Amino acid sequence: MIIKEILCRSVLTRAGGYLAQVVSHSLNPYVGCGFGRSSCGVACYVQFNPWIIQSRQWGRFVDVKVNADEVYRKTAGTERAWAQKRGVPFSVFLSSSTDPWQPVEQKYHVTRKILFSMIDDPPDTLILQTHTDRIVDDLECILELSRLCTLRVHISIEGDRESLPGLPPPPCSLENRLQALALFSKSGIVTVACLSPLYPLKNPDLFFQSLARAGVGAVILDHFILGDGTADGNRTLKTELPKAMAELDKESVLLSYRDRIADIARKYLPVGVSADGFAGKFT
Ligand code: SF4
Repeated sequence: MIIKEILCRSVLTRAGGYLAQVVSHSLNPYVGCGFGRSSCGVACYVQFNPWIIQSRQWGRFVDVKVNADEVYRKTAGTERAWAQKRGVPFSVFLSSSTDPWQPVEQKYHVTRKILFSMIDDPPDTLILQTHTDRIVDDLECILELSRLCTLRVHISIEGDRESLPGLPPPPCSLENRLQALALFSKSGIVTVACLSPLYPLKNPDLFFQSLARAGVGAVILDHFILGDGTADGNRTLKTELPKAMAELDKESVLLSYRDRIADIARKYLPVGVSADGFAGKFT
C-alpha cells in the first residue's frame, strides 16, 4: 500500500451526475481506499475513474488530504452560499469515492478533524457513509453534530452473507456493522443500512427483521444495474461480482430482483430505492 500525504486546495466538491440528486457537495478526506482489495472493492465504481486512479492499482494507494479540515473551514462559507444561490440546502455526502473510516484514518484522523471543523461550521445536512464499524470511534463527535444539523449514518451492508463465492472477505464483519448500526440507533441517530449493491439474500425476511430490531431507520436498495453509474450495469459486468452473485441466485443479477426484495423489505422498514434512498426519500 502506498500512502502519501498531500495538501488539497479544495475539499468540498460540487455534486454532479447521480450525486446531484442527493446532496449539494461531496467530501472525500482521502484519494483511493484502503478497502479496495476487499469484497466491496471488487466492483467499486471509483476504480473506473481515471482522475482518481492516475494509472495506479485500485486498493494499493491512499493519498491523505492532511489539510482537509483547514480547507473545510476556509471554504464552507463560499460553498454554502453557492448552494443557497441554487435554492438547495448545503448538504454534504462524506464520502462518495473513499471510505472515511478506512484503516489510515486511525493514524491520520483526517475525517475526525473534519467533523470537528463541522461542529464550528455545520452543513445543513450531513450524510456519513461507511463500510466499517470504526465509525463508532467518533460517536461522541457525531452525536454533537447531530444536534447542529440533519445527520444520517449510512452503513453499507450489501446482504446477509459474510462473503460471496470467489470474492475476498468484506472490510468489516456483518455482525460488527450491525452492532454499529444498533449503537447509533440507540443513541438517537438516524441510521440507514445500504444494500448497495444488493447481493443475493439468504433469508430476506429474517434479515430485514433483524435490521428493524436493531433500530435501523431505513434501508436503501441499489442494484448494480442503474447503481454503478451506467444504465445497464456495464461497469460491474466487467468485474467478478455478477458471476459470484449468479452462483448463489441467478435472478439476483436482474434489476427485477431489487424490486422483489424491496417488496419484502417494506414489510419491516421504510425503503429507499437507488438515488431516492441516498437522498433520504423512503416509502
Ligand atoms: S469502502 Fe467504498 S470506496 Fe472503499 S473500496 Fe469499498 S466501496 Fe469502494
